[in-house]
Amino acid sequence: MSVPKFDLDTLLVYHGSRPDAQHGSVIPPIFQTSTFAQESPGEYGDYDYTRTDNPTRTVLQTTLAALEGAKHALAFASGMAAADAAMSLLEAGDHLVAVDDIYGGTYRFIVDVVEKRGIQCTFVCMDEEQKVRDAVRPNTKMIWFESPTNPLMNLVDIQMIARVAKDAGAISAIDNTFLPYYQQPLEQGVDIVMHSMTKFINGHSDVVMGCLMMNDDDLYEKTKHLQNAMGATPSPFDCFLAQRGMKTLAIRMQRHEENAMKVAQFLDGHAKVEQVMYPGLTSHPHHELAKTQAKGFGGVLSFKVATDLDGTVRFLKATNLFILAVSLGGVESLIEQPATMTHFEVPKKVREQVGITDSLVRASIGIESPTDLIADLDQALAKI
Ligand SMILES: *Cc1c(COP(=O)(O)O)cnc(C)c1O
Repeated sequence: MSVPKFDLDTLLVYHGSRPDAQHGSVIPPIFQTSTFAQESPGEYGDYDYTRTDNPTRTVLQTTLAALEGAKHALAFASGMAAADAAMSLLEAGDHLVAVDDIYGGTYRFIVDVVEKRGIQCTFVCMDEEQKVRDAVRPNTKMIWFESPTNPLMNLVDIQMIARVAKDAGAISAIDNTFLPYYQQPLEQGVDIVMHSMTKFINGHSDVVMGCLMMNDDDLYEKTKHLQNAMGATPSPFDCFLAQRGMKTLAIRMQRHEENAMKVAQFLDGHAKVEQVMYPGLTSHPHHELAKTQAKGFGGVLSFKVATDLDGTVRFLKATNLFILAVSLGGVESLIEQPATMTHFEVPKKVREQVGITDSLVRASIGIESPTDLIADLDQALAKI
C-alpha cells in the first residue's frame, strides 16, 4: 500500500480509516479469528494463525510505525512483553546497561528474570556521558533507558546514548512511553523504541498493550520471530481499541501538555509544595535538553509535598477529581505515590539513592478542564 506523504497528525487518522475493499467499511473490521483457511496444505495468503499475524494487528502496526517514523513496528500483549522481546535479543554471557531511575516493573523484570538468564546488568545514572561509558564492558550488548525517566522526570541525552551504544557495538533501546507523538528517538540514532501502549498511545485506560519500533531489517526479523515464538501477542479487539485511540493521539497529547504546564505552574508557586519536576518548567535542570530532543514536554509531572508519609497519604486521599491509581496517559487525571505504589518493589535504599522519597507524588494530567484540576489539587493540599 503506498501512502501519500502526509504529516503525522494526518497519518494517525488515515491508517485507521481506509475503506475496506469488500464492503467499503470506513473502519477496518476486527478480525476476531484465531486461524485462516488455506488453499491447499501449506499454501496460505497473508495470514495463517493469529499469534503469528492478524489483519487488525497489521493496521495497528502500520500506524505505530508512522508514529515513530519507523520502517517496522510490532505490537505485544503488554509493555513488559515488548520489553521482554527486546531484551530476549540478549544471550547468556551478555551484559546490559540500564538507567538507574527506571520504571519499577522494568527494574523487577531485569532483576528477577533477565539476570537469571545469565545476563549481567549494571544500573547507572545517565546524566553524564562518562558515567555511561564507564558502565560499558566488552560484552555489553544493549543500553536501555527512558527519557523522561519515571517518576523523577529526569532527561537523558538521546543522541549521547545512541553514540555510546554505537561505539560499543551495542543496541540502544529507549522506553518512550512518556512522550509518544512529541519525541521520535529513531531519528536521533536509537535502534529500538519501546512503548507501553497502555498509557498515552491507547489513551483511554482500557487496554494493556506494548510495542517495539525499529528501522533495521535484521533487528525487525529477529524481534518478529520472538513475537511469534514467545507468543505474548495482543488480541484483535485490543488492537482495534488501540487503533481507535491513536486517531486522537495528536490532539490528546496537545491538551495533556497544555494542562500539565498549567498544573506545574500552579504547584511551582504553592507553599505546600517543595519541588516540581516537569521538563516544561524553565527551572527544570534539563529544560534546554528537552527542547532540543522533543517537540513537547508531555502530560506527566512529579512533585514533592512539604510533609511526611502520613501527610502525603492525607493529600492523596483528599483529591476528588484526580483518581488515586497507578498507570498514566489516559484522558482522566490520575495521581499516585511511587514509594508505595508503582515503585514499591524497588528496594528502599535504591529508591532513596535516586530520590524517590515518601513525599514524592506523580500525577498524570488528563484532558479535563485545567481550572477544575487545579482547584482539586488546591483543596487537597490544604488537607496536609
Ligand atoms: C507502564 C509502563 C511500562 C509497562 O507497561 P505495561 O503495559 O504495564 O506492561 C513500562 N515502562 C513505562 C515507562 C511505563 O509507564
